[in-house]
Amino acid sequence: MIEMHDIWKTYADGTTALQGVNLVIDRNEFVYVVGPSGAGKSTFMKLIYREEVPTKGQISVNGFNIGKLKHRKIPFVRRNIGVIFQDYRLLPKLTAFENVAFAMEVIETPRRLIRKRTMEVLELVGLKHKAGSLPAQLSGGEQQRIAIARAIVNNPSVIVADEPTGNLDPETSWGIMNLLEEINFRGTTIVMATHNKEIVNTMRKRVIAIENGSIVRDQQRGEYGYEI
Ligand code: ADP
Ligand code: ADP
Repeated sequence: MIEMHDIWKTYADGTTALQGVNLVIDRNEFVYVVGPSGAGKSTFMKLIYREEVPTKGQISVNGFNIGKLKHRKIPFVRRNIGVIFQDYRLLPKLTAFENVAFAMEVIETPRRLIRKRTMEVLELVGLKHKAGSLPAQLSGGEQQRIAIARAIVNNPSVIVADEPTGNLDPETSWGIMNLLEEINFRGTTIVMATHNKEIVNTMRKRVIAIENGSIVRDQQRGEYGYEI
């Protein structure tokens, strides 16, 4: 469902972040992306959610060649990809409910469905009782759960998570990981960049290591493989 063929990415200032990446991620896989800072992990993730386009090579998600996508088609691709960030990125003036509902409003979902589906995903992440809270009234772990609810509300086939536990304590991080595992179990592909050695070495999944813009390791039930 995600295919990269000889992907290169050079930014405007001349920095080459990816050099000749090839890979296939199948439907319903759970993949960790690991590697040192500056290796190209975020760039790799941004290409999948079409925040960046490759300088060279083909990338397809669900059969769409997303490097060559016409601008007006971008929303159709993004609807099918949920994104989760280390810093949550909730809209601060909207409640938890409104943050999640907003993701459905932008794709013009009927109001009646928005209310029902938003409450359903808030329940799934265990925060129905916080629907009326503003992000500032929630803990980091709760904010990340709302961000996850927002990411899954439109039933995407893929979740891209860039260091989703990076700002959280170990116990809260495990709660987030259990939630992501449950979402994966329900049929969503998950691609997650992380520096969390303990999580990778405990929840054994496919591990792709990127160093200096290239994939240097790709193992099923792999290990973190770095000291920190
Ligand atoms: P990682 O997520 O593994 O830390 P990144 O993909 O963020 O790696 O960065 C890979 C390389 O690309 C680094 O050298 C970084 O400084 C550079 N880079 C990332 N984003 C940009 C950008 N917008 N413009 C120029 N260089 C960038
Ligand atoms: P741009 O077209 O300039 O990339 P967007 O308005 O599309 O800006 O994106 C705004 C912000 O939302 C960016 O920070 C981007 O990383 C993030 N984003 C893009 N796609 C998604 C998505 N599917 N889910 C969550 N956040 C997204």
